Amino acid sequence: MNILVINAGSSSLKYQLLDPSTGELLAKGLCERIGLDGKFTYKPQVAGKAGKNAVDVAMPTHSEAIQTVLNALVDKDNGVLSSMSEIDAVGHRVVHGGESFASSVLLTDEVLKAIEECNPLAPLHNPANLIGIRACAAVLGDKVPQVAVFDTAFHQTMPPVAYTYAIPYEYYENDKVRRYGFHGTSHRFVSARAAAMLGKPIEELKIITCHLGNGSSIAAVKNGKCVDTTMGLTPLAGLPMGTRAGDMDAGVMEFLMNKYNLSMSEMMNILNKKSGVLGISGVSSDFRDLDAAAAEGNVRARLAIDVFCYDVKKYIGSYAAAMGGVDAIVFTAGVGENSPELRTAMTEGLSYMGVAPLNQEANHKRGEEVDISGEGSPVKVLVIPTNEELMIAMDTAEIVEKL
Ligand code: AMP
Repeated sequence: MNILVINAGSSSLKYQLLDPSTGELLAKGLCERIGLDGKFTYKPQVAGKAGKNAVDVAMPTHSEAIQTVLNALVDKDNGVLSSMSEIDAVGHRVVHGGESFASSVLLTDEVLKAIEECNPLAPLHNPANLIGIRACAAVLGDKVPQVAVFDTAFHQTMPPVAYTYAIPYEYYENDKVRRYGFHGTSHRFVSARAAAMLGKPIEELKIITCHLGNGSSIAAVKNGKCVDTTMGLTPLAGLPMGTRAGDMDAGVMEFLMNKYNLSMSEMMNILNKKSGVLGISGVSSDFRDLDAAAAEGNVRARLAIDVFCYDVKKYIGSYAAAMGGVDAIVFTAGVGENSPELRTAMTEGLSYMGVAPLNQEANHKRGEEVDISGEGSPVKVLVIPTNEELMIAMDTAEIVEKL
């Protein structure tokens, strides 16, 4: 089965063509600057096929972008399919499903309407996801089923005690203001892989999944269900990130807005784009740059890394408390998968809760699922490369197979 996975942004569209039964990736790429001077990238993963990197591609809307992707996939020289009819279904990443969606769903007019109703909760992302869905329907027709996979869905099992904000309750009742959480597809994928690695049913495990990349979040997964996560109504909450502030005293906003006469949108721009490890260090949002700067003695780069690791460690401790213990801690995404130094720092001093010092030989392996726990560690520490696209393709296949 061939599933086209689409992640549509306001002026971009990422795609992958996969076979979820084997996990084989056939092609991937990106459309950028849609509506401007269209850039198109095509990377076939099949031997003997050439990739493409084109600029000034006519992509006035997402429909032309999808058409460009399809043309590349069926191109007679470098395509990986012989015709469009070989695409069995399309799976879309949708950022916010609010309280309406606790799992992936087949896209129908009714579902589209319900997603639209979630737009106020993710005004930058959901409308763009919907544009991608409609563009696919316009180009592929309604014979190719489409499925929505939500970033928030996995977290819908959180109990009220974890998702309720301590603000007047009517804001929840009337406006649905609460913790939702994001990166759900990644947390679900790696927690399932962790159970497989440990050879135990996920229903018997307490797992803390640390998705640490440019955006970062942690989830507490008890018996296969998410019971808490660090992101909130929006992806601004929780850990400090590349450029996002994460949790802080809301009073900071009033103080800075008054002092510097900032508008709300200027304040939000600071919190979303100029904060996090970039804000602390003044060097970069990329942890590789921070590592290099810290190694040369840059004190603020060192502080930024330390603040990040300290917060990760605090959440590991608090989620162990929330679940009444922990069997495994999982590291994933750009930083989680690639930085042995940060994994060491984030798990240091946790022997009291059963996390032995890491096995450094295993900790320095790259690009594979690996158990990096120290010998005899009661709590296992695992590195698991995430694969959100594969999870989206697997969900899509499962839903369309039942049609
Ligand atoms: P992601 O958002 O999951 O793609 O993660 C991107 C982030 O991973 C980058 O901003 C880097 O900070 C981080 N990263 C990638 N490789 C490394 C590495 N070798 N060491 C530390 N951080 C890394």
